[in-house]
Amino acid sequence: MRIALVAHDNKKSNLLEWVRFNRETLNSNDLYATGTTGTLLESELGLDITKFLSGPLGGDQQIGAMISQGQLDFLVFFWDPLEPQPHDPDVKALLRMTVVWNVPVACNRSTADFMIASPLMSADYVRQIPSL
Ligand code: PGA
Repeated sequence: MRIALVAHDNKKSNLLEWVRFNRETLNSNDLYATGTTGTLLESELGLDITKFLSGPLGGDQQIGAMISQGQLDFLVFFWDPLEPQPHDPDVKALLRMTVVWNVPVACNRSTADFMIASPLMSADYVRQIPSL
């Protein structure tokens, strides 16, 4: 699967902990991340990650573009509900794309835990998409 990992600054340690816990499972997938999140995960965990721009500089939009082009299967996005973000419109747009394109998205630890433990992770799941 093609999995993108994104966390706002106050949530980066939560994402790091989740990725560390699920390292083996995640490592057998194609991993993508926004710039700062990806750099952190690479340096702390030695994962091979395709990094986009930092979120506030357009990274969220790059991941949104992947979704709209059918190139992403799974998003873990630990956004921060307690702090305003300068790129809030991009955050909203990314979340919107996940719903438009029916891409599974986890915005907190428990959802991410349930998703990664799903038997559908290793099944031939055909996602319904909007008619083009
Ligand atoms: P970052 O971006 O990984 O570059 O911090 C995350 C975001 O704000 O969307």
